[in-house]
Amino acid sequence: MNTPVCDYLIVGGGTAGCVLANRLSADPSCRVILLEAGGPDDDKWIHIPAGIRYLLREKKHNWFYMTEPSPLTNGRSVYWPRGKVLGGSSSINGMVYIRGQRTDFDRWAASGATGWDWDSLFPYFLKIENQTRGADAYHAVGGPLTVSDRTNRSEVWTRFIAAAEQLGIPRNPDFNGADQEGVGYYQATVGNGRRCSAAVGYLRPVKGRANLSVITGAMVHHISFEQRRATGVRYEKDGHWHELHAAREVLVCGGSINSPQLLMLSGIGPAAHLQEMGITPRVDAPQLGKNLQDHLQLRLTYRLNRPISFNDQFHSLAGKVGMGLEYLLRRSGAIAYPTAQVGLFTRSLPELASPDIQYHFSNYTTDEKTGMPDRFPGMTFSVCHLRPESRGEILLRSPDPGQHPRILPNYLATPEDCRVAVEEVRLTRRLAATQPLADIVAEELAPGPDVQSDEACLDFARSNGTSIYHPVGTCRMGSDAEAVVDPALCVRGVSHLRVVDASVMPTLISGNTYAATLAIAERAADLILNTRP
Ligand SMILES: Cc1cc2nc3c(=O)[nH]c(=O)nc-3n(C[C@H](O)[C@H](O)[C@H](O)COP(=O)(O)OP(=O)(O)OC[C@H]3O[C@@H](n4cnc5c(N)ncnc54)[C@H](O)[C@@H]3O)c2cc1C
Repeated sequence: MNTPVCDYLIVGGGTAGCVLANRLSADPSCRVILLEAGGPDDDKWIHIPAGIRYLLREKKHNWFYMTEPSPLTNGRSVYWPRGKVLGGSSSINGMVYIRGQRTDFDRWAASGATGWDWDSLFPYFLKIENQTRGADAYHAVGGPLTVSDRTNRSEVWTRFIAAAEQLGIPRNPDFNGADQEGVGYYQATVGNGRRCSAAVGYLRPVKGRANLSVITGAMVHHISFEQRRATGVRYEKDGHWHELHAAREVLVCGGSINSPQLLMLSGIGPAAHLQEMGITPRVDAPQLGKNLQDHLQLRLTYRLNRPISFNDQFHSLAGKVGMGLEYLLRRSGAIAYPTAQVGLFTRSLPELASPDIQYHFSNYTTDEKTGMPDRFPGMTFSVCHLRPESRGEILLRSPDPGQHPRILPNYLATPEDCRVAVEEVRLTRRLAATQPLADIVAEELAPGPDVQSDEACLDFARSNGTSIYHPVGTCRMGSDAEAVVDPALCVRGVSHLRVVDASVMPTLISGNTYAATLAIAERAADLILNTRP
């Protein structure tokens, strides 16, 4: 066993980890090591956007977590994919590009995450971006994250947009511009028909730097300490144990499930729970693993009365050949873009200050058994509550790092979350009953016509709701004594240890979480470099 020394040890080569690896190694005098439990991102399905269907069904690049069964989900476990590969979840995500609402970040700052308000983070959102529409007051070019518009159009999407407009929802050409509210096409984190993961945007351009080492297949089991100072990590690779020493800092970027797990395995967490697991507590951090928040999505599906959906294109030879040729020749078409194409942000009550409901609308339905498009024309409204009140937690299942932790999301635990779920079903039906969509609907498949009362709609949500894959909050940042990390993302109670990933978000943002995680890591890199001795 040897203990080589670097300045910064980054645990987790995912979204945030790739940002830190790039920014910290920009200074040639900083020696940086990035440890990733998964493998390299050399699988073609990662890079072809349509490959997400495959990535979500296999375990090769995916931790493939399942939540604990709960009465709140009518006894069900819910599938929680997370990326286990360079790029982390950004290598398997849905590529929908959303920053969130200004008030999300202002709420963070007001809750004690000083310095993380919108005005402080906006420059980082710009720094990230390579906007193919060009630069303007809200967007920038030249950053590592390529963001683009899809070029093809579908009659089903056009009808969805027209139906929303008929209900008084305004058309919005840019959900990341002046206002999020409205209906329109999503932009995607895709460049030239290829996924722009954090590994592609941040790691590949710098992988030749002499002061940066990237070690894949390296599962970190423990953080090492000398008294209260984090000094390095112990990891396993190919059945062998290794230790690494960090002269400056250990930076935990394992994501919202693995970061709290690793801290607990290292003796930081709720003391009673650690003792129960046979782990000697180093720091009693009662809030660690708590404050778990996620977007629960309801999927309402319809059979259409004519073959104008992606299902029909997918199951016809001409459609398949056309898609393949369009991708090969022009890097565009259905293969080049994410599965959710059209978006809608609106309010469940008119008196709300900003949207609390988001739609990912698709011109297809999926056969649950095969994961492939159904053999009949269809459309899917995937809808979620943007700022749920319910809070869950992550607990250790065992002191064995190889065992998945217990995930208890606690979905639909408050009356307000239940009210919004019911409203989601009702609003979807109003959309589907509006002329442009009513003209093409043959029947409602899910929830189906029998589901009418509030109780039945809520029961549908409990029986069918799934994750839209945005867990955050388990290493909450704040200024209070119970916060897991302080506003500089330093773990309370120890030194030389920070958490930098989606787990530090105090509250879930109103939208998809990739861009916000990149912004967190960009600002964290500046905080780290500015506090160098
Ligand atoms: C299926 C899916 C679809 C999504 N769709 C979208 C979308 O369309 N738009 C959007 O904005 N957001 C989306 N998201 C969310 C977004 O991708 C995540 O919020 C974001 O990538 C989280 O980044 P992170 O750095 O916190 O964690 P991750 O990117 O998950 O990185 C954590 C990394 O740490 C590694 N790791 C963990 N533990 C260890 C250990 N002990 N030792 C070594 N390495 C370890 C992991 O393997 C992983 O690579 C989606 C997520 C998923 C999973």
